[in-house]
Amino acid sequence: MKIAVIGAGAMGSMLGAYLQAGGADVTLVVRRKELADALASPGLTMKTYGAEEGGAKPVPMKAAVGVEGLPVMDAVLLMVKGPDTKAAMASAAPVIGPETKIVTLQNGIGNTDLIAETVPRENIFYGCLNMSAIMEAPAVLTVGLFGDTNVVLGSVVRGESQTAFGEELCSLFRAGGVTAAYTEDVDREVWYKLLVNVAVNAGCGLVRLRGGEAGEDPQYTLLAVDMIKEAVAVAAKSGVQLDFGYFMTHVLPSARKTSGKHYPSMAQDMMIRKSKTEIEFLNGAVERLGAKYGVPTPVNTTVSRLVRVIENNYAKQYVPKAEKPAGPAFTIEISDKFCKGCGFCVKYCARGVLALGEKAGRKGYRTAVAQSPDKCVGCLNCAAVCPEAAIRIEKEG
Ligand code: SF4
Ligand code: SF4
Repeated sequence: MKIAVIGAGAMGSMLGAYLQAGGADVTLVVRRKELADALASPGLTMKTYGAEEGGAKPVPMKAAVGVEGLPVMDAVLLMVKGPDTKAAMASAAPVIGPETKIVTLQNGIGNTDLIAETVPRENIFYGCLNMSAIMEAPAVLTVGLFGDTNVVLGSVVRGESQTAFGEELCSLFRAGGVTAAYTEDVDREVWYKLLVNVAVNAGCGLVRLRGGEAGEDPQYTLLAVDMIKEAVAVAAKSGVQLDFGYFMTHVLPSARKTSGKHYPSMAQDMMIRKSKTEIEFLNGAVERLGAKYGVPTPVNTTVSRLVRVIENNYAKQYVPKAEKPAGPAFTIEISDKFCKGCGFCVKYCARGVLALGEKAGRKGYRTAVAQSPDKCVGCLNCAAVCPEAAIRIEKEG
């Protein structure tokens, strides 16, 4: 089976590696050439949590930057973050034929509807993972497996051909070394996984704690329980019966064993990457479905709103003085609309702040860039000599 993994970050690379080990012809589609090169040679190294150092050997993987030149695939495994689903489907269009199956094992609820905008529902498969992966270095993963079944798969439309494909994909996973099952009861598993994410992801981003640290705080536990209870009530109205007690005593503790040691992905988005989060596919999905089915979700709604505010205002957030670079700090703006690459500013900056960059500006010349902005003392020599008035220097704060 020819499979392209779109969004081959830590989780996507891990799944691709297991499928390749099971006999599939896998191509990992990544964003950076350095990562593609490292995945090809020496290859992907996968360590498991708690295993001794030095045991894992790199396994060469096929990897590509974008899908250009790749053949039409039997399956596309979509592993991008929810906010990137539409763009990823558009970029993957050249390898998607009329028979290509789209498999989403992304977090949360709502991705299948976005995929169905461009692909027939009969070809869409979805599910959830009881696995975790962290990319410690390019092409080096630490992975964790938990729960009874690592890959739980189902399909939007149920029929003989869907069962045949689902079983074949799961047999590849199993041959590769993980437990996998194609099931008609996939929604229950997806909702249980959603409950884990609803309890941990957004909340840890808001309180800036690792999953395990948040779980040890009684106040956080109360918050998580409120969010989970709301989600269980929404699931029931949508036709999926979940057992709150079973979740609290079995599912959540099992997930904590491997994922409690680090910041959940949404916390990383909010604290480190400052990027769009998956809130609309997690607590936001509970809020949205609650509104649809008439189930009040005040806690998930509040948490979702707080995350949206943070997402919308990353640039304005408080930064403690001590974390700012030492010395005078100046903002250096060089307009690529006006810069003609004459290099005067580079020559007359005594502090070596400026250089001509690699990229061409709108006039077609390599434009000046601030290569060492920390060294700027705000003398304004560069702005004074620039014949195009392309430089603006401002003191920060
Ligand atoms: S203001 Fe002075 S120190 Fe700063 S980039 Fe311009 S010439 Fe260099
Ligand atoms: S002096 Fe002005 S036009 Fe010349 S490289 Fe610097 S910014 Fe560009």
